[in-house]
Amino acid sequence: LQSSEIREIRKDFPFLELSTKEKPLVYLDSAATTQKPRQVIEAMNRYYSYENGGPHRGAHRLSMAATEVYEGAREAVKNFIGANSVEEIVFTRNATEGLNLLAYCWGLENLKEGDEIVLSIMEHHANLVTWQYVAEKTGAKLVYLYIDENKEIPKKEIEEKITAKTKLLAITQSSNVLGTMPDVKTMIAYLRKVSPDAKAVVDGAQAAPHMPVDVKDLDCDFYVFSGHKMLAAMGAGVLYGKLDNLNAMKPYMYGGDMIEYVYEDHSTFLKAPGRFEAGTQDVGAASSLPVAIDYLNAIGLDKIHEYESYLVDYAYDAMSQMDDITILSRPTNPRGGLITFNFKDVHPHDVASILDSKGIAIRSGHHCAQPLHRSFGIHFSCRASFAVYNTIEEVDYFIKNLDEVRRLMGLGTR
Ligand code: PMP
Repeated sequence: LQSSEIREIRKDFPFLELSTKEKPLVYLDSAATTQKPRQVIEAMNRYYSYENGGPHRGAHRLSMAATEVYEGAREAVKNFIGANSVEEIVFTRNATEGLNLLAYCWGLENLKEGDEIVLSIMEHHANLVTWQYVAEKTGAKLVYLYIDENKEIPKKEIEEKITAKTKLLAITQSSNVLGTMPDVKTMIAYLRKVSPDAKAVVDGAQAAPHMPVDVKDLDCDFYVFSGHKMLAAMGAGVLYGKLDNLNAMKPYMYGGDMIEYVYEDHSTFLKAPGRFEAGTQDVGAASSLPVAIDYLNAIGLDKIHEYESYLVDYAYDAMSQMDDITILSRPTNPRGGLITFNFKDVHPHDVASILDSKGIAIRSGHHCAQPLHRSFGIHFSCRASFAVYNTIEEVDYFIKNLDEVRRLMGLGTR
């Protein structure tokens, strides 16, 4: 993407109006949540102004309008990830809820003592604590895949740990701390070979916003992601599941909108996706998804990934020259659009506060990946993450201000 194209893209993002010469705002926390283009905000505005009604419930005009918006969003998501049918798309609040749904409705029902859940040490807590709970309840065992100095999972690790005992592989497609993008397609193919009945869950929270995703090509059983990390609204999460898997699962929550017939003593339930969508759904949030998807597709996810890689390469090259900085994230491509680092002897929260005083928003903390941090012998880190609305000048400004952190913290300048 040319800088002229990025300039055009930036015009679509109202939050950038907050950035002035006197008080800049450089948002480098898109891995936490992305900012929204006006098209997305307008879609939600349109929904609440002219299309709001109880979905799936009424025969009146606005109820039908809401149903159309909601089911239209499902169609857009289906096409976005290459699912077979709209029935395979379940709306959730976010990736976390999708993973919990799987833990409760698949994990607790299907795993037992002697079974193994294979996951990587770089999983987000959403794809880790959930399986810990399932392991505790069922007696299944957690088996971790560890990483090498390139922040990759070595082939040997995969071939040693994925075995006939593996009943679930729960793996990220892009790490929110390291930027590592495990080859989940090859891992799943290997899983199929050694344990044909096992299921594969892919956490796409950091992948779907930044690269083309094809769930059929991955051959995963389940795939989760969050709309709010891909320009859409908070509350617009997605769980994809192969239809047979979904229909074999019990409902998640019980109540209205998910039943077929209700008798005094028992009920029958809708097939997927309805059986997992109890209660009035967040149509307003869903209304943002098709617009966000169109926005990403119009730019092209390949181009987005390439552009974000360019920003990361640039930051990585500059920061790896700086004394007193340790970079934790992956040293080589392919990698996600982020860089994670620490200053020697400076707490990440201090780094983030100093940068904030310069108008730069980064994330500091454990990024919901405590086991990963512990495996490096640390507790916290700083993370700068990029999106298509960031410019190379912003990355420069960020790098320049890392020197300011050094100065203020008495580390001296280069
Ligand atoms: N997985 C990964 C890799 C993530 O980065 C995140 C969000 N930081 C999640 C899962 C959870 O997403 P959410 O908070 O939207 O449920």
